[in-house]
Amino acid sequence: GASPDVARRILDDIEAQFRLSKDDLVRITTQFLEDFALGLSEYNHPMAMIPTFVTGVPNGSETGTFLALDLGGTNLRVCEVELLGNHEFVLRQQKYKVSEALKTGEATTLFDYLADSVDAFLTEFASAVPSSPTTEQPNPFASPSLTELSPEPAVPLGLTFSFPVEQTALNKGKILTWTKGFAAKNAVGHDVVQLLQDAFNRKHLHVRCVALVNDTVGALLSRAYTSGGCLLGNIFGTGTNGAYVERVENIKKLGDSPARQNGGYMIVNTEWGAFNNTRTVLPTTPFDNKVDRESINPRLQAYEKFISGMYLGEITRNILLSLIDAAPKPLLFNGRSSQQLNAHYGLDTAIMSEVEEAWETGRVPIVPVTVPDWQSAHFTDVDKLSPDDIARLERIRGIIIQRLGLDPADVSIRDAAIVRWASSLVANRAARLSGCAVAAVLVQTGRAKLGGGFATDEEKLIVGVDGSLIQHYPNFNARLRESLRELVGEEVEKKVDIGLAKDGSGVGAALCALQAIKQG
Ligand code: ADP
Repeated sequence: GASPDVARRILDDIEAQFRLSKDDLVRITTQFLEDFALGLSEYNHPMAMIPTFVTGVPNGSETGTFLALDLGGTNLRVCEVELLGNHEFVLRQQKYKVSEALKTGEATTLFDYLADSVDAFLTEFASAVPSSPTTEQPNPFASPSLTELSPEPAVPLGLTFSFPVEQTALNKGKILTWTKGFAAKNAVGHDVVQLLQDAFNRKHLHVRCVALVNDTVGALLSRAYTSGGCLLGNIFGTGTNGAYVERVENIKKLGDSPARQNGGYMIVNTEWGAFNNTRTVLPTTPFDNKVDRESINPRLQAYEKFISGMYLGEITRNILLSLIDAAPKPLLFNGRSSQQLNAHYGLDTAIMSEVEEAWETGRVPIVPVTVPDWQSAHFTDVDKLSPDDIARLERIRGIIIQRLGLDPADVSIRDAAIVRWASSLVANRAARLSGCAVAAVLVQTGRAKLGGGFATDEEKLIVGVDGSLIQHYPNFNARLRESLRELVGEEVEKKVDIGLAKDGSGVGAALCALQAIKQG
């Protein structure tokens, strides 16, 4: 390899680009707050601050059975949710794959597929909700027109649609843009509830979409249902976003609309994935620029590209490729890559997760909120490693060879250390930046002050989260909390109760459907 000094310089330089000081975090959070204010007062701001028309938060006593359909990530989900009224629910769900062709083809084809999935679900799985007419045994005595005019009320369905939508009512909203790899044609600008209802009607399905909800709103509602309250719902999965409970008087862009005159509270979907689209407060590296340039939405969803599952693997892949190609001599894998590693999005964030997991296993137990030492462990001096370190790096080496399809002869212990180091750099930055968004909401809603030294008299600040990244990535939560503590102080940070919004999109859609039916 290259001389240790050259190697160290190159690696240290990369590490420095990914470091976020407390000052950086404060600066970014301040910008977040300014963007919140702008988005609340005007339409068409990148920080969309979408009013959701959800004006209450459940307390866990709600009951009823609803269908829910969830589109927005890797899978399409159809579920039946029974709210038991005691903070508990029963959920039966089925996942359906959304192909690339569906994601980027005609919108009607995509929505027909959604309707077909609901139909298949009703046929095979649903129990308590009245089954759809098309799934019943054909009645030879009933004329088709009678079936269609059936007095039986249509099955109410809540749609969780996790893309930016300008909502104008609980059951109305225009698609603003696609994200996360979707690009279906003739959808942007159309009402998503109508697109779905039209598909149900085309298929003669006796289902009515009564509510439209974003997955972040779903996370908020579902955590509120199980915990008796919640102020913020977050997603850290394929993408990232947040929704929080805002005073209606602060949502200035609603003007004199009835919704505004009623006062009270309304959940706002921030669409914070677009933070930094038109600004440059995030310290961007060449690895990020490459991800952005090669994405289907360059210069959009800028914050999301630093944070979410879809992109972390890709940033890491770019770092690894740069080290394979390092001059004057390769710094990784003998300068050889593999088919997987050469492929766009060929390194899944789940692999980083596995690598970090292997590193953490066998370490001294991690005290909550204490982030293990991740810095400078690229081990340019392999001879300084302890036998324990070597054992863990051997495990990582095995993972890398297997998952990335590399020739074992090209992967050293030191390479394993470098891959772990790169993964932790990227994930640590993502988690720390996520802390900025959470801190901004706490400050925005009067629960905290930037810089700390503020004590709210609320005992708990409940936050609902969902997504594979926050659920499975080792230490993501601890790293996020550390950033939060730097931003709002330990007193407030200790009160923040971050918990999984279990089945957030399904339960949230059901709760929203319930609210829609109550409002008539
Ligand atoms: P979605 O957001 O699409 O509903 P998920 O919350 O499961 O679905 O997020 C999927 C994303 O999470 C993918 O980008 C994937 O790379 C990433 N991911 C999947 N498993 C893990 C894991 N164990 N650790 C970290 N990230 C993961």
